[in-house]
Amino acid sequence: MNTDLLKDLCETPGVPGHEDRVRDLIKGQIEGLFDEVTVDPMGSLLCTRRAAKDGAPKIMLLCHMDEIGFLVSHVSDKGYLYLQPVGGFDPRNLFSRRVLVCTDQGDFKGVMNPSGKPIHISSPEDRKKIPEVGEFFVDLGMGEAAKDVVKVGDFVVMDEPFIEIGDKFVSKALDNRIACWLGVEVMKALGDRGRGAEIHVVFTCQEEVGLRGARTSSHRVQPDIGIGIDTTLACDTPGIPEQFSTTTQGRGFGLHVRDSSFIADRALVREIEDIAIAQDIPYQRTMLAAGGQDGAAAQQAASGARAVGIVVGTRYIHTVTEMVHKTDLQAALDILTAYLAAQD
Ligand SMILES: [Zn+2]
Repeated sequence: MNTDLLKDLCETPGVPGHEDRVRDLIKGQIEGLFDEVTVDPMGSLLCTRRAAKDGAPKIMLLCHMDEIGFLVSHVSDKGYLYLQPVGGFDPRNLFSRRVLVCTDQGDFKGVMNPSGKPIHISSPEDRKKIPEVGEFFVDLGMGEAAKDVVKVGDFVVMDEPFIEIGDKFVSKALDNRIACWLGVEVMKALGDRGRGAEIHVVFTCQEEVGLRGARTSSHRVQPDIGIGIDTTLACDTPGIPEQFSTTTQGRGFGLHVRDSSFIADRALVREIEDIAIAQDIPYQRTMLAAGGQDGAAAQQAASGARAVGIVVGTRYIHTVTEMVHKTDLQAALDILTAYLAAQD
């Protein structure tokens, strides 16, 4: 397993609309894997491998490059940064965080806390209150000088290293750098197989703010089949009733049949399921009541496509401790490779 690439992908900052560093990293990894590589006006990276014959079906894999983060909305006179979120944050996970502020003048480490008093001088009522995301601010430790280096619109990410513990990977950005990793690794694993289809691996932008890059890139590709690759929930942890688990870690990739953005193509679900069973690739069917992924945009592009999701169950999602099981990630790689290889 190419852990070094996953680590690099996870530790490269890139929030919606600011995916260029992730895109450059991917570009450096895909030499020789595609016939054509282009960047569209919004910033998605479109990679195409032509089929052996004209008129072959177009299969599109969608892997979003952005991670949830913030844009600086205001720098105060004293040099504190106020932020707007780009992506869904739960304020309960934002207390006392180390962050990286990415500016034209370089990246600066900072700390994020909510406005208010520390425990020593706060009342019992103060301590019960959960601030809104907009009440958090960043302190760069440089006082008023922050005004000279940070501009409105600069971006902020969590600053936490990628780690391996037990059978798991942990990072702030497994959503969705695992998909970027899969998009690269599947083409390496595929080799010269799967020439019966035209394969488009598209590293999309701005998913976390509403599948925006997937919409435009799908319109361009006009796929016959769209596969959204993403994380999903793994609520197999204490305090959550079993029926809300979505996935159980270690039981394989998630074959995603529904969420609030789409309903998967049933024949495609069965086809992938048959391959998984025949090749002993562990899997679990998954559904989400809320939330979407890029496969939905492919499904509804132009005159429509058949779509499905291949997902990896992720504990503690949208926190700095996002956690995936290596077995599940490997299973996702195996099924994508097997499915594309079957297009001979
Ligand atoms: Zn995602």
